[in-house]
Amino acid sequence: MELKDHIREVPDFPKPGINFYDITTLLKHPQALSTCLDRFAALFEDLAVDKVVGIESRGFLFGPHLACNLDAGFVPVRKPGKLPADTRHATYDLEYGTDQLEIHRDAIAPGERVLIVDDVIATGGTAEATCQLVASGGGTVVGVGFVIELTFLSGRDRLSAYDTRALITY
Ligand code: AMP
Repeated sequence: MELKDHIREVPDFPKPGINFYDITTLLKHPQALSTCLDRFAALFEDLAVDKVVGIESRGFLFGPHLACNLDAGFVPVRKPGKLPADTRHATYDLEYGTDQLEIHRDAIAPGERVLIVDDVIATGGTAEATCQLVASGGGTVVGVGFVIELTFLSGRDRLSAYDTRALITY
């Protein structure tokens, strides 16, 4: 099955000049969804992983299934103010201004092996900040995974310290 056939490209969303890779068309198709989840899990089967960290919000769509397949737990990294207990945060640069991500302080124990996942890597800034968040809490980032990599934006270069893997590339 060609998974790209199930990814919808939406020009000029959310703003002019951005070509948005929409995975909702893949998610709603039973066979495309199961094929995508199976292939995504197979990408990481050689890694010993304690925790899969999913980045809000579309990392939450792929992270838990992956965690189950790897016999790992799932940890959400969220936008500020969403997590109820004690958190640590990382600040990262956007095109205009900055943004923050948070993780529960007790989510990852020191020395645990962590795989970070999101749906798309564009510039890599979000994933880089998440790597810092995990590392600053004592976790070991053993991999960073994406369903879709936009290679023309070279986001992988920002993650050169990590084992970065993607299922589908554009
Ligand atoms: P970045 O930090 O630039 O790698 O952006 C990554 C985040 O933005 C991910 O959470 C993606 O879901 C989202 N994203 C960025 N660009 C796109 C795009 N062209 N299509 C779909 N999602 C995108």
